[in-house]
Amino acid sequence: MYRDYNFEIECKECGEVLEIPVDLEDYELYMNGMPVSHAFPYLSVDEQTSIRDNLCPHCWNILYGEEEE
Ligand SMILES: [Zn+2]
Repeated sequence: MYRDYNFEIECKECGEVLEIPVDLEDYELYMNGMPVSHAFPYLSVDEQTSIRDNLCPHCWNILYGEEEE
């Protein structure tokens, strides 16, 4: 795999743009409906979550993160 394509994700909350390097072939698989975890098994869970939800890790934590008690 080459990770020759920068997958740009614009956070739907704050507008920050994340660039996650992926293999262009995997990107095309994803655009054709393959689940993130199958298309990009080499990405971290955080990166997969950002792609799936269109959120940067910061906003994801605000919306879904566990509050520490
Ligand atoms: Zn954000």
